[in-house]
Amino acid sequence: MTSMDAILQAKLDQRHQQFLYRHRTHVASGCDAVLQVDGKSLVNFCSNDYLGLAGHPDIAAALKAGVDQYGTGSGASHLISGHSTAHQHLEEQLAAFTGRPRALLFSTGYMANLGVINALVNRHDLVLEDQLNHASLLDGGHLSRADYKRYKHNNMQQLDYLLEQSTASRKLIVTDGVFSMDGDLAPLPEMSTVAAQHSGWLMVDDAHGMGVLGATGAGIVEQQGLTVEQVPILMGTLGKSFGTFGAFVAGSEALIETLIQFARTYIYTTALPPAIAAASSASLQLVRREHRRREHLQQLIQRFRDGAQQLGLQLMDSQTPIQPLLINNDQLVMEVNQQLRSRGFMVGAIRPPTVPAGSGRLRITLSASHSNQQIDQLLDALQVCL
Ligand SMILES: *Cc1c(COP(=O)(O)O)cnc(C)c1O
Repeated sequence: MTSMDAILQAKLDQRHQQFLYRHRTHVASGCDAVLQVDGKSLVNFCSNDYLGLAGHPDIAAALKAGVDQYGTGSGASHLISGHSTAHQHLEEQLAAFTGRPRALLFSTGYMANLGVINALVNRHDLVLEDQLNHASLLDGGHLSRADYKRYKHNNMQQLDYLLEQSTASRKLIVTDGVFSMDGDLAPLPEMSTVAAQHSGWLMVDDAHGMGVLGATGAGIVEQQGLTVEQVPILMGTLGKSFGTFGAFVAGSEALIETLIQFARTYIYTTALPPAIAAASSASLQLVRREHRRREHLQQLIQRFRDGAQQLGLQLMDSQTPIQPLLINNDQLVMEVNQQLRSRGFMVGAIRPPTVPAGSGRLRITLSASHSNQQIDQLLDALQVCL
C-alpha cells in the first residue's frame, strides 16, 4: 500500500466504524415505481421522480427524435456553438411556465447554484443561507469569498438581525423552497418582506417544489403567489419532477444576461445534449397540463401521513412528497433500511454529513407512480421494522 492509500484507508475505516460508509445500489431497471436490484423487485420510495415522468413514453419519444435531429452531444459550450434551437425553445417555455421575463438552462442544479451565487456576489458582499440548504447552495456561498453566514432553519428574526448588521451593498439571501431532507417549506412571503426591508436579493432553489406545488406545477412561488419582484432569483431542476436532466434559473432580463456574462459554471462547460432539452420540453407540457399526477400525489401524501400517524410513527412537518422518519442512531438507520429492503422496499438512508449529526433518517419519497396499495404495504413494513 502506498502512503497515500494508507492515509486514505484510515479515513475510510473510520467512516465504516461510524456507520457512515456509503454504498451504491446497482439498479438494473429504469426509474419507476418498482426497481430491479440483484434480481429482486423493490418498491421505489427513494427517487425524486415525484410525478412519475422519468419513464414516460412521450418524453422518451422526444428524446429519440432529438437525437435524430441533433445527434448525441452539443459539442461545445453555450457561448460557442453548443446553444441549439432546442435549448432556446426550452428556455422560452420555462420563462412562460414560471411567468418570468427569461430563463437560462444550466447543465445541472449543482452548477446553477454555484454559478448564480458567484455571478451575483463577491468580496465585500453578504450571503445569508438557511443552515439546512442543499449542499450546492452552501458550497456556492463558501466559494463566493463574500461574507458568508448561515442562519438557523427558517429563523426570520435571525435573518433580519444579520441583514440589519451588514453594511454590504449586495446582500444575497438564499434558501431551498422545499427543504430537500425535511420536506418543509421556507416562509417565503415573510422572507420576501424581510429581504425588501433591507434591500436584500432573495434566491429560491425550488428543486423539490417544481412540478409538485402550484396549480400548474410552477412550484412554491406559484403556490404562494409571489412575484418576480418578491423572489427575483428562482432556480429549478429538471432531473426531479421533470424526469429528465439539467436545471434552470428564471428571472429578469438583467439577471439572465448577468448570468450569461459572468456565471462561470455556465460559460466554461459543455451545453446539455440538445436532445435532453427537447425531452424536457415534452416533459414540461405534461407537467403543466396533466393535473391528475399532482392530485394523485397529494392524495398519496395524505394516505401515508394518516397511516403513519395511526401507527404512532413520528412524522415531520411536511406536506410534500418528502416524508422523513427520524432515527437518531446512524447504525439503526442502516439496520432498518436493510430490513425494509429484505421486505421489498427501497427508501433513502440519510446520515451525516448530508443531515446534521444526530438527525439520521429514513427519507421516504412518494411519487404519482405509486398506488394506494404500495403505500399501505410500505406502512405495514414500517410497522414491523421500526
Ligand atoms: C437535487 C438538488 C440540487 C442539484 O440539482 P442537480 O440537477 O441534481 O445537480 C440542487 N438543489 C436542491 C435543493 C436539490 O435537491
